[in-house]
Amino acid sequence: MTEAATVARYLPLDSAVLEIDLDAVRANYITMGGILGADVITAAVVKSDAYGLGLEPLARTLWAAGCRSFFVANLEEALRLRAVCPFARIAAFHDDYVRFKRIYRLEDILPVINTQEEMDFHFRTAAADPYLLNVDTGFSRLGLSPSEIADFSREDWFLRHPPRILISHLACSDHLSDTMNGVQKQRFEALRRVVKPVASSLVASAGAWLDTSFHYDLARIGSALFGLNNAGVHPNPLRAVLRLKARVLAVREVSALEAVGYGATFRARRNSRIAIVGIGYAQGLPWACAGRISARFGAHSAPVVGRISMEYVTVDVTDVPTELCGPGAWAQFLHDEFGVGDLAAQIGVNEQEIVMRLGSGCLKRYRHDHSEGADLFELAQRSSAPETLGLYHSTGDRAALGGI
Ligand SMILES: *Cc1c(COP(=O)(O)O)cnc(C)c1O
Repeated sequence: MTEAATVARYLPLDSAVLEIDLDAVRANYITMGGILGADVITAAVVKSDAYGLGLEPLARTLWAAGCRSFFVANLEEALRLRAVCPFARIAAFHDDYVRFKRIYRLEDILPVINTQEEMDFHFRTAAADPYLLNVDTGFSRLGLSPSEIADFSREDWFLRHPPRILISHLACSDHLSDTMNGVQKQRFEALRRVVKPVASSLVASAGAWLDTSFHYDLARIGSALFGLNNAGVHPNPLRAVLRLKARVLAVREVSALEAVGYGATFRARRNSRIAIVGIGYAQGLPWACAGRISARFGAHSAPVVGRISMEYVTVDVTDVPTELCGPGAWAQFLHDEFGVGDLAAQIGVNEQEIVMRLGSGCLKRYRHDHSEGADLFELAQRSSAPETLGLYHSTGDRAALGGI
């Protein structure tokens, strides 16, 4: 490798940094477990690269926190997760089950069956294999409809091999008093009586705040782990996971009445100092932030002015002491007093989307203390791969590790 290529490889541009507090993720996992109670399994949803925050580091953290059941989006993510958590129970929400059945079985990935075709295929080829069954109770996304279930319910093979977990998804659980929640639970109850699953799962993060009759055996928790309080509960017991900062690249003097940025949407009312900060919508800072948020320099707050560019944002730092906001200084965008939820509310964008986009666009830095559990986990990881993994496969049944 040339020297330049080496430098490029080892010096990732750190002008926009998303700090991910893994201790907070761990604390949120434990908090959600406490809310759900000991009878309910708290499964972690780490789909979409753990909401953009990085599947592997997040999954390791959750495993170290005691999580044993995980949901991912698809088979590709399931295999990535299997590589870092060899003994986890892993279910993939959706993939081409018919085509990849062999891989599901080989890597002990639980399929979620979403269609009648997959159901037919499963019973033709592997009726006794464990599977999860997704049913639609009023969300109209993936999942078999109640009438499709009724067709199966008369089949002997179906009754002999019920799903490991019957799952459904609530449409309105972030509005805890919405009558839709009760309607979906009733439909779910009716389906449970017909299907007679080994276990059932209805709620995601927000649904954990509904009464215990909604919780069943397993809750699929994503957002809450990452500090998102979808249901808006007060006081919020979740810890903030994300901090966002970006570097000042340059500061320029702008005379009164001069324009700043695309569309000349902002004109200085006075002689101003404008900081050009190295984050834009390419790094996931929503374009809708223009004129609506501030950056913090130490204890000073400074308004974002003009439009958000692809790689830059302009901040009016006229009132910030110069020693705090010169080139190379950090501008804080998400911090203790202004979190993802505040940003989402400010610009009318969904929190998960903001997290996904920042996670995908920024350089991610993980923070955690080297607590006892984490060290043990590191050790277990080192000693378990790859020999133990091989041994495990040759001795077969991962399900022997128990439970669902
Ligand atoms: C994404 C997802 C979850 C997790 O939702 P959160 O609200 O982020 O906790 C649970 N179940 C299903 C089916 C999902 O698609």
